[in-house]
Parts: sequence; structure tokens; C-alpha cells
Amino acid sequence: MSNDELDLCNDCELCNVEDAPAPTSTFRFAQYDIEISGGSVSKGLKSHAELWWRVVCRNELPSPAVGGTADNLLGPTGHLERMNVWSHMAGAGAYAAYLGLRERVTPMGDIRSLSNTLAYVSGASLVVTFVSSSVYHVYSADAEWGAYTRLGDYAGIYLSICTGTTTDVAIASVNLTDASWQAVADVWIGMVVLVAFFTLKRFVVPIETTRRPYFLNKCSLGLARNTHVDLEHSALRAAAGIAMAFSWACALPAAFDAIELDCAWAIAAARIVATLTLILGMFVDNVLLYPDRWINNEDAKKPMCLCHNPHDVFCGGWVMTSHALWHWVALASVVIYTAGTEYAIATSETLAM
Ligand SMILES: [Zn+2]
Repeated sequence: MSNDELDLCNDCELCNVEDAPAPTSTFRFAQYDIEISGGSVSKGLKSHAELWWRVVCRNELPSPAVGGTADNLLGPTGHLERMNVWSHMAGAGAYAAYLGLRERVTPMGDIRSLSNTLAYVSGASLVVTFVSSSVYHVYSADAEWGAYTRLGDYAGIYLSICTGTTTDVAIASVNLTDASWQAVADVWIGMVVLVAFFTLKRFVVPIETTRRPYFLNKCSLGLARNTHVDLEHSALRAAAGIAMAFSWACALPAAFDAIELDCAWAIAAARIVATLTLILGMFVDNVLLYPDRWINNEDAKKPMCLCHNPHDVFCGGWVMTSHALWHWVALASVVIYTAGTEYAIATSETLAM
């Protein structure tokens, strides 16, 4: 931590790390850290339930003086991760509901082809991805559990990319007719290598080494948080993810040869728009950091597009951080991606034969 960060850290009594309670404190950053205590199994289970309750529903501050300032964007019972969790649960619920309806009321329900089956599996893997990411965001308020559930968060993302890419290869090769095994296995091998590497690293590198604080100077706004990072392998994580996310580009030329032109264009347009949307979301969350970086204590209520609900009511106590914004953009991106697949599956006579 730089001296600058410490100097800025004067707007909340718990933001001064040197004076902050021990790491096992329930409220290290007022409304973020909720660490599960050790002890007996029954005590542990009770703590898990409490953590879920506090992050998802109601996170009462120990006293109004702790983080309960007038500027606090989260209000008296909010949590920074609440919108992150609910946004992903909304995605999981929407895809689960759609998959249920898909078999009954859409043209794809009557089609029996490998591409259609893979498209269904791809949709189901998105439900898994959204749920595993929701679990991670609940547990990210706990240093130790956050470290391990983060592995599941990334594994879920890789799973969705792999099933989506396999579906694309199947469509571009007319249900994997004459497709080489490498075309299918490539992205799965990438997933196995990444998951194995980062899992091994997780058990080798101490948890406290990868836990980093962010926005310590915005504690009284409710924006201070801790999160795990990949340290020297951050570039590997990012580059591998981008390479996998662009896997559709390898299958696209074959699609124009294999299936009807309108279907190939639907696939192409959906992939291009979805990927551009995804990159836009990444830019906002990782580079711009809007609105997080742009809010300060003097004009906490003023920034454009600052969306939050500080009220102590049902569905209250959340703020649309840059990461929550990214969640909604990512959901829009996968919906666009799915729409292209569904159009091709529903209308292509070549794939249905
Ligand atoms: Zn997230």
C-alpha cells in the first residue's frame, strides 16, 4: 500500500488500516468484510448462513457510527456485493426459465440435432456460470472462502466459453461432420490447463499475499473493498481469457461454407456485437472504473448514472459499481451471443437434417 493511499484514508474510522481491527473482525471495511470465524461445525454453518444473509439481504452495521455516514451509498443495512450477487442471479434465473420454455414453445424444441443439443448444454452452462459467480461474490467478503470460490468463478466462465465454442464448431461443421478432433479439443485443453495452474497456485501462494484493498479512501461511501488478485499471472489470466473468448473466430469462416448464408451472418453478427459489448464492459470495469473512481465524498450524490438504493427496505442497500455494471453488460453480451445461435438452429435446414 502506498503512502498516498494511507494519507487519503481519513474519511472513516475503520479505513485507517493501522488502527483497524484484526483481520478476523466482522467489519474491517465497515460494510464489506464479513469473515467467517472458525470453531465447531455447527458454529461454522451458522456463520455461513449469516454471511449469506448479510451480503444478499440485510447487513446491519454494529453501530451507526461505523460507516453510517450521511454519504454512505449503501445505507444502514447495505452491502457492496449485493448488486453483484443479484445481477448474476437474475442472469441464472432468466436462462433457467428460457431453457425450460425452449423445449416447449420454441422451434428448437422439435429439432433433434447435435448442434441443438450442444446449444442447450451451452445455455445450461451459462446458468452454472452465473450461479458460481454469485457464490463467489457472496464469499468474496470473506478472505479465505473468497480465495477458493474465485477458482469456481473462473472455472464457470471457462466452461461457458468451452461449451459455446463447441457449439460454434458443431454449427460450422454441420453437427461435427468431418470436424477434426483438435477443433473441438483445443479450447477444452486450454480450460484444463488454466484451471489446473491457478488451482495449484492457490494452494501454494498464501491467501494474505493475494488479498488486496481497493478504494480505501472511499470507505465512508461504502465503496472500500478487498479482493483477490493473480499477481504476476494477471496477464496470463487476461490473455488466456481473451484468446478463449475469441475462439468463435476460428470456426466462423467454415460456417459460411457449411450452412445457409443468413444463418452464417446471424452467427457472425451475434459474435461480433457480443464480443464488442463484452470488451466495452471490461473497459468500463477495469480501465474507466466508472462510477467508482469518479465518486468522491464531496459530490457523492451528483455523478451522472450513479445508481444506488441506500434505503433499509426489501431490495435496498445496493450500489451499481463498475463491476455490477459489468455484470449487466456481460449478461447483455451472452444474450446477443445466444440469439445468433438460436436463429441458426431454428432456421437452418442443413443443421436439422
Ligand atoms: Zn463479478
